[in-house]
Amino acid sequence: MSLRFSFFIIIFAVLFLGLLALPHVVNMSNLSPLQHAVTYTLFAVIVAAVTSALLHIYIRRDFHQVLDFVNKLTLGQFHRRLHITASHSTASLATPMNDMATYFENCVQDLSASNEQLLTILNTMNEGVLVLTPSGSIQHYNRALRHMFPQVENFKGLQVVEAIPVPGLQQAVDDILSAPVLSNGAEGKNYTSLQLELDPERVFSVHLTPAGGNDVSLGAVVVFHDISPIVRLERVRRDFVANVSHELRTPLTAIQGYAETLVNTEDFPEDYKRFVEIIRKNGAYLARMVEELLALARLENTHMPLATSEVSAIESVQAALLLCRLQLELRNIQVKIEFDESILLKANVQHLTQVFRNLLENAGRYAPEGDAIVVRAQSLPDTDAEHGGMTLFSICDKGPGIPQVDNMRIFERFYRVEKHRSHASTGLGLAICKHTVERLGGHIWVESPTPEFSTVFYFTIPTFIGD
Ligand code: ADP
Repeated sequence: MSLRFSFFIIIFAVLFLGLLALPHVVNMSNLSPLQHAVTYTLFAVIVAAVTSALLHIYIRRDFHQVLDFVNKLTLGQFHRRLHITASHSTASLATPMNDMATYFENCVQDLSASNEQLLTILNTMNEGVLVLTPSGSIQHYNRALRHMFPQVENFKGLQVVEAIPVPGLQQAVDDILSAPVLSNGAEGKNYTSLQLELDPERVFSVHLTPAGGNDVSLGAVVVFHDISPIVRLERVRRDFVANVSHELRTPLTAIQGYAETLVNTEDFPEDYKRFVEIIRKNGAYLARMVEELLALARLENTHMPLATSEVSAIESVQAALLLCRLQLELRNIQVKIEFDESILLKANVQHLTQVFRNLLENAGRYAPEGDAIVVRAQSLPDTDAEHGGMTLFSICDKGPGIPQVDNMRIFERFYRVEKHRSHASTGLGLAICKHTVERLGGHIWVESPTPEFSTVFYFTIPTFIGD
């Protein structure tokens, strides 16, 4: 029965009983019919008013108890329960209110348990973690991050650049926080990575991603991975290779020189001459490998961009052709240059010529005898997001091609596609090309086969746009 209905029943019951009792309480025999009616009405109003006032006081007391309980819930005191006996007007509220409090209490316990677990995970991670608000200020950070940047006392509330004064990092944070929200399932890049070199002994690989997957309205997460030991080892390896290569140069020159002398000595027995010729050839092969290793070491030793100037693309290709002309003539390979001779590049002429030479030599080695290699170039417009303002070169041949599985790996040093293995191959040429092109600001990749050719090496170089 509803509260309001009970309320009316009580008032009517009291009123009815009152009206029945009225003639016994008041002498009404000498009253006129009008006075009768007025007396009854007055009496009824007084009884109803008194009864409802009493009921109001009674119900108000019960509601105060409920209100007090709700206020305690809003203060987070979810362990409280409403204790109401069946005689109370609000008794029917007790069970749902207590169930609600139990539900909230369980939710809060679950949330704080998973929060504790997350904090433990964060603090036991080796990677430093920063959690940023949508406006880019630091909301949380973990213990590893504090060890990585001990100079910062308290990260909370700071902008990233205030804690770690590297403009490139702040730029990456701004970019990720201002990136358009990708709808669910939409393809797109919602993370970014960069290498942060604070000094030669402190190098971090940093990954940034929106905290809510594709959505930056929850802020962003920045993870710092300390790669200093890897970078240090890499440097040691590079120095070792460069030093060994350097040390090998002199004895190799001596071996080649003496072998050459013996081969050219007239009264030297012919049988021995054959052996010495093998020594000379292998010496030349080793000398080439040493030179290429030194070239790679020079390219890797500094992250500074190579010194560049205005370079004519056609002149660079022709210079490369002069260097590998003999090898191409031996196999009767033609080179067709199919591009506008006025193309100007922003490059380093020696390094660019070396790239053309390596690619032409490879194409010349693998193209069918008597066939042609095609060299093309096209300017890519600035609107091309990835290669804008670049010139795209392609060196095409109709040789045996490169299997799909090797496409990604042929740019690694010493990597050779097994079936093309030959003595003259060191497996370093494409590694040099990749380093050079990237140091000049471009990219290099291979496609094999293409509709027209079996192998096409593509690379981009910035187009010259004036000083
Ligand atoms: P190298 O300097 O010894 O030629 P590279 O690094 O230039 O070595 O090439 C690596 C490997 O890639 C080669 O051993 C060869 O197997 C393969 N390769 C390179 N260019 C071509 C090509 N045009 N056609 C087929 N295979 C190629």
